[in-house]
Amino acid sequence: AKTAYVRTKPHLNIGTMGHVDHGKTTLTAAITKVLAERGTGTFVPFDRIDRAPEEAARGITINIAHVEYETDTRHYAHVDMPGHADYIKNMVTGAAQLDGAILVVSALDGIMPQTAEHVLLARQVGVDHIVVALNKADAGDEELTDLVELEVRELLTAHGYGGDSAPVVRVSGLRALEGDPRWTASIEALLDAVDTCVPVPERYLDAPFLLPVENVLTITGRGTVVTGAVERGTVRVGDRVEVLGAGLDTVVTGLETFGKPMEEAQAGDNVALLLRGVARDAVRRGRIVAAPGSVTPARRFTAQVYVLSAREGGRTTPVSSGYRPQFYIRTADVVGDIDLGETAVARPGETVTVTVELGRDVPLEPGLGFAVREGGRTVGAGTVTAVL
Ligand code: GDP
Ligand code: MG
Repeated sequence: AKTAYVRTKPHLNIGTMGHVDHGKTTLTAAITKVLAERGTGTFVPFDRIDRAPEEAARGITINIAHVEYETDTRHYAHVDMPGHADYIKNMVTGAAQLDGAILVVSALDGIMPQTAEHVLLARQVGVDHIVVALNKADAGDEELTDLVELEVRELLTAHGYGGDSAPVVRVSGLRALEGDPRWTASIEALLDAVDTCVPVPERYLDAPFLLPVENVLTITGRGTVVTGAVERGTVRVGDRVEVLGAGLDTVVTGLETFGKPMEEAQAGDNVALLLRGVARDAVRRGRIVAAPGSVTPARRFTAQVYVLSAREGGRTTPVSSGYRPQFYIRTADVVGDIDLGETAVARPGETVTVTVELGRDVPLEPGLGFAVREGGRTVGAGTVTAVL
């Protein structure tokens, strides 16, 4: 018999953000080094993080590095990105839904434009918890660092993060990487702050089950299996579910993750669901499997859309109302009409507010990310702001 999957610690998604050269990648490497020494992670050197392969998330190519580690109480997936454009695309599309972020600010330079922009974006996309790493504390003088700390707290307060009580930890990623005990301790203090100040996103697990279908397979003698990542909620063998858009009610008769049977799948897990009595062609990629009656699909919504610049592989010419591209929403690919309202035109490199009418109903909600594509290439990244 196959061994069952055992969940030992809650899983959270976090990431580093902040101005270029403030030390995000160095800090990410230092965290893995400190935890490797504790025996709960694998050291990932700077070069491997900074030269991460390009990834296609929601049809957008993003340079993103994922590292994975554990503290005593949590399992973390941590993302680090090389460039400012990667942050914009990644955060706007929600390619990595962060439960919390480590804002890296150089104690030598203080707040810079990308520091402020990332905090603003974090607020917009619903990152509720920020822990500050005042990095390069080894090289800064104390008075100046105090001033930078005040400035960061003010920035957080201005964006609704409660700067007065926010955890701010003075660290040196570089010295910790070199094995300096004082600065190794600073990284441990930072991780403790993340463990205690970023709560496990409970509501996410308590929400009704939802899984966007990535693939459909047939297992001879057993039936139809759908695979994908559980977006929210939990599901157990025996649970009733509906396949939206197919008008199907069914029961989950089997559940696996990475080839191992499991009793309960949770938000964040990659799973295969065996569905009772469902024909192979009744389900396809892009459909949603959800708790019965838990979602009402819709087709009209407002959104903020970032139009990729030509340098990022986007368009060279502006778009205007009546533009009819493809929308990649979760795993679905749907055509839709864009209305730019009074803005009239959107140039490459701009972020605009639009109203969209899709060609068919899909489950929508504020905060949901999507990609805009045209002729097989990505030209925009957006977030739903309201369902109409
Ligand atoms: P990123 O662009 O935010 O990912 O920054 P990097 O991690 O690439 O670091 C940028 C530069 O700052 C590199 O030259 C690092 O060696 C240096 N650096 C990073 N962390 C520290 C630190 O804690 N102290 C000092 N003195 N330099 C650092
Ligand atoms: Mg970097």
